[in-house]
Amino acid sequence: MVGDCILAVAMMEGWDIAVHYWILSCELKIWYCRLVDLLKKEIPLEEEPVVIAEHVKTGLVLVDIINGFCTPGSGSLVMTTQILAPREPNRQISEMIGESERLARLFCDKKWPVLAFLDSHRPDQLEHPYPPHCLAGTDESNLVPALRWLEREPNFTMRRKDCYDGFIGSIEEDGSNVFVNWVKTNKIKVLLVLGICTDICVLDFVCSTLSARNRGFLSPLEDVVVYSRGCATFDFPVSIARDTKDAIAHPQAGSLQELMHHVGLYMAKGRGAKIAKEVSIECTLQKP
Ligand SMILES: [Zn+2]
Repeated sequence: MVGDCILAVAMMEGWDIAVHYWILSCELKIWYCRLVDLLKKEIPLEEEPVVIAEHVKTGLVLVDIINGFCTPGSGSLVMTTQILAPREPNRQISEMIGESERLARLFCDKKWPVLAFLDSHRPDQLEHPYPPHCLAGTDESNLVPALRWLEREPNFTMRRKDCYDGFIGSIEEDGSNVFVNWVKTNKIKVLLVLGICTDICVLDFVCSTLSARNRGFLSPLEDVVVYSRGCATFDFPVSIARDTKDAIAHPQAGSLQELMHHVGLYMAKGRGAKIAKEVSIECTLQKP
C-alpha cells in the first residue's frame, strides 16, 4: 500500500519528493510504535491462558464475523475509502477468522452451543457515526466464507441484529431476549467471546452481558472470557475522518493494529471480563 503511494508520488512529483515521503512514513511508523508502547505501559493488560474444562458448560459467541467487516473489497465506502472492511488482507482480521473457525469446529465436534451475531440493517436505518453498512439481504451481512458451514450445524444459533450491542439486539418485540434464552436453555456457565470490533460491538455486548449477570438476569452464567487473538478492529485514520462529515476516526495505529484493540480489551477487563491470550479445550483421556 505504502509502496503504491510512493510510486504514485514519484510519478507525479519526482523521486526526490517520493524518497522524502518514504522517510516520513518510516518516521510515522516508529512514532506509532512508541505511542502503542506508551499506551501499554500506562494501561497494562494482563492476559491469561484459558483452558475450557469439559465439565463446565461453555458457550461460544461470535460477534459480527461477516463480510461487511472482514472481507477485503466488501463493505462501505467513504470518500472512496473503504472504512468498515479491510482494503487489503489484514493480519489481525485473518487471525481472528482462523481462531474463530478453529474454536467453532471444536465446539461443534462436542455439540456445545455456538451463537453468532450478524450486523444487518435496513437501508433507512443509520447507525451514527458510521455510513450505511451491512445491509440486510446482501452478502455484507453474511458470515465470512470460512464460517458459512456453521449454518448447517444443529448446535448453532444465528441472530441478526440492527445495533452495536448483541444483547440489546436480541430483544424481540414481545420483550423476550434470544441471547438470554440461549444462555438459560443451554445452562451456560462460561461465555467465550470472539469477534469484531474489539472496542465497539464486542465491548458493548460484553458490558451489557456482565451488567445483566451482575443483576442476576443471566443465571447460571458465571464468567465472560474475551479472547484477544480472536478479536480484531478496523482502520479509519484521522487524516480521512477529519474530512468526512459526522465521522469519527478509528485508527489501528499504522501497521501495528493494536491501538483501539488494546483499549477495547482493557475496558472489557475493567467491566469484569477475563482476557485470554490462548484458548484450549481440556483433553480428557478416554477410558480403555
Ligand atoms: Zn451496524
